[in-house]
Amino acid sequence: MAQVDCIFCKIIKGEIPCEKIYEDSKTLAFLDISPASPKGGHVLVMPKKHYELISDIPDEDLSALSKTIKKISKALLEYGPGLNIIQNNKKIAQV
Ligand SMILES: [Zn+2]
Repeated sequence: MAQVDCIFCKIIKGEIPCEKIYEDSKTLAFLDISPASPKGGHVLVMPKKHYELISDIPDEDLSALSKTIKKISKALLEYGPGLNIIQNNKKIAQV
């Protein structure tokens, strides 16, 4: 279920444009508009349904998300020496 005020739900619905690099029925991956590194490669990977916390994601959707993260990771590792995978939960975890 999409949240009306969620920027990511708006991106998934196509209401806000993004640089999409991968999409399937359950997940979307796109370039961050404000990359953490000037070298690029900052990709946001998310489920198409809105979840507040990782612990809220049903196993089926979490499995699909993990598979997409693996695909994106393989692609990024072809172009760089390494990568970070960060998953923030709640405001205090934001970096
Ligand atoms: Zn959302």
